[in-house]
Amino acid sequence: MGAHITGTRLRYDLHTHSLHSDGTLAPAELVAHAHAHGVDVLALTDHDVTDGLDEAASAAHACGMTLVSGVEVSVTWQNQTVHIVGLGIAAPHPELQAGLAALREFRVWRAQEIDRRLAKKRIHGALAGAERHAHGAILSRTHFARFLVEHGHARDMKHAFRAFLSRGNPGYVPGRWAPLADAVGWIRRAGGVAVIAHPARYRLSAGKLRRLLDEFCACGGEAIEVVAGNHGEQECRHFAALAQRHGLYASVGSDYHGPGQSRCEPGAVAALPPGCIPVWEAWADRRPAAAC
Ligand code: AMP
Ligand code: MN
Ligand code: MN
Ligand code: MN
Repeated sequence: MGAHITGTRLRYDLHTHSLHSDGTLAPAELVAHAHAHGVDVLALTDHDVTDGLDEAASAAHACGMTLVSGVEVSVTWQNQTVHIVGLGIAAPHPELQAGLAALREFRVWRAQEIDRRLAKKRIHGALAGAERHAHGAILSRTHFARFLVEHGHARDMKHAFRAFLSRGNPGYVPGRWAPLADAVGWIRRAGGVAVIAHPARYRLSAGKLRRLLDEFCACGGEAIEVVAGNHGEQECRHFAALAQRHGLYASVGSDYHGPGQSRCEPGAVAALPPGCIPVWEAWADRRPAAAC
């Protein structure tokens, strides 16, 4: 990647979604929207799929933005779902693609299982409804949540997750995602940097979080989202300190999913706290093919 994106005044957003996973904008629309919000360097990081990257890269090229090829890999770590973002991946890498394909296969089975479980609660047609929202892309719980809201089973998305789709609720199916070391390995061998996504979301105890970070570092993970769409100022400072303690680069991402779907617009996130080493410094001196 060229030196032109290593300046300090550029606006970065390194975690966003398109309709190839559970976002609502096409990749080109996402790029245009991010551009309109002043983003200079954008990563498209769809869940378990890289299909949107070519379109996003062309759109970014046309408007003078830098597009970082990304993905958000679903991981199961100690019976818990953890998301690992890969940045600067060579998307066609066969091992990465084989790993992602297996995760998508699990998604197909899980969607059928969610449908069966909701049917037991007299909610019928959930799979067909979710498929309508997914438009042929991967099936996410987000699509089921949209169906549940559309049919009046839930007031809003948050309620759909709280009442049906999160752990302990009738439509919940435990994840059987990738082992942490596998996901990090796929990302690294595809030339990318592995990043722990939205660390506050997991609500881990201090001890468990330390174990996650130790394991992540031991298998080659290099960065953590210090600034995330769901982090308050205090969380940013907390994860900045943890990043420094574990020798991790710091990343910045909104986790934008489309208009009306997310708390903040692309790029509308805080600056990295002082003392962090930005993740873009990790790729500044790596091979140029790491990003497009
Ligand atoms: P999945 O990977 O299919 O299990 O779906 C996870 C996705 O659901 C996340 O990436 C979020 O986009 C979305 N999600 C999870 N929890 C919530 C929530 N409480 N409210 C709205 N969206 C959520
Ligand atoms: Mn999502
Ligand atoms: Mn996530
Ligand atoms: Mn995400």
